[in-house]
Amino acid sequence: MNHPYWIVKLVSSLLVFVTGTIQAELTVDSDFEGGSGMVSEIDPEKQIIRIEPTDHPGKGWRCWWYVKIEGFQSDSKLTVNVGNAPWATPDRAHFRFDDEKTWQHSETGIREEKQISYTIPTISRQKILYVAWGPPFVPSDAEKLVNAVSQQHENATAFELCKTREGRSTPALLISAPKSPDMKARDVIWIQARQHAWESGSSWVAKGAIDWLVSDDSKATKLRKRAEIIVVPIMDIDNVARGAGGKSQKPQDHNRDWSDKPHWNSVRAAQAQILEADQDGKLALFIDLHNPGANDRFPYFYTPPKESLSPLGGKNLGRFLADAKTEITGPLKFTGRAVESGAKYDPEAWTAISKNWVSHHTTDHVVAVTLETSWNTPSSTAENYETVGRQLMIAVERYLRIDPRSK
Ligand SMILES: [Zn+2]
Repeated sequence: MNHPYWIVKLVSSLLVFVTGTIQAELTVDSDFEGGSGMVSEIDPEKQIIRIEPTDHPGKGWRCWWYVKIEGFQSDSKLTVNVGNAPWATPDRAHFRFDDEKTWQHSETGIREEKQISYTIPTISRQKILYVAWGPPFVPSDAEKLVNAVSQQHENATAFELCKTREGRSTPALLISAPKSPDMKARDVIWIQARQHAWESGSSWVAKGAIDWLVSDDSKATKLRKRAEIIVVPIMDIDNVARGAGGKSQKPQDHNRDWSDKPHWNSVRAAQAQILEADQDGKLALFIDLHNPGANDRFPYFYTPPKESLSPLGGKNLGRFLADAKTEITGPLKFTGRAVESGAKYDPEAWTAISKNWVSHHTTDHVVAVTLETSWNTPSSTAENYETVGRQLMIAVERYLRIDPRSK
């Protein structure tokens, strides 16, 4: 039976009024650092919120979302429904209540065509809930991380890689023990994350790397003595700050900007420091951290095309991949899969991909790779991303036990 429109309207208004008298209004906010979420519906009665990632024309894929929710019913359940492409709908969302530090995975969401619904249990003492595509890691997190590590560890120094085109700071960290007088030139290792703003997991991999590098682990101590390690947790600060996807942004995304005339300041600054290290013959490794496609369930590496490498470069790459397989053992496990991304992968812009540019512009022995850490598995949590970062650095320590310059 169909009720007249005004009766439906009156009843729903009364419901809002009645529930409104006993609890706060259900609200969704994305107006904060890294926030994204365009609300299409809020149903206070059923405790359902429907959102899509905020549209930022020209700023890359519309896939990242991160919202703050208040006024939900306590000791109940809240449903967050997200629409749009597969990139916007991981099998599980991440959530965190205001007074908790750790991001948690939701239960597996329920898909219906292009939508997915995540159910979040609400706890009575909590008033504010954050829900996101993945564990957020925003510019202020990068700033806090590099400053805290720099203050607490004498082997770490925070620095600003550059100011972005929009005037924001790009935090970076140099980790290295004081050089002893008898020591010859040390290896430089360049690690960067988040050329694609939505790939938040890659910043957590970088954080895991940093935390291990400054730890008391005897292998970390050895690595700090023999190498200078530079880590940039976020390359595309501006898009991470505004909550945009960044991938395929205009005029080109950061990972298609590695030409002789880069558009983005962080790419230009990274290139200059990398070339400087290489002039002294010190550059040994370049690792670019990313997250792959939704169906890539195991981490893997992209490598420069084999024919572009010297015999020594090819041998070193094989040795590095073997060491990575030995050490990156899970829960997010590197099974040994390596994919070349050359002319066949991107005929127009393959030379402007970071690791290809680095490989092409530096000494034969340098290994330059991209690590893609899976984001759409039950193990794809901040904690496990950090484990990948730690294991990656243990692999680096293993790799550098043999001088990469020796033929
Ligand atoms: Zn990427």
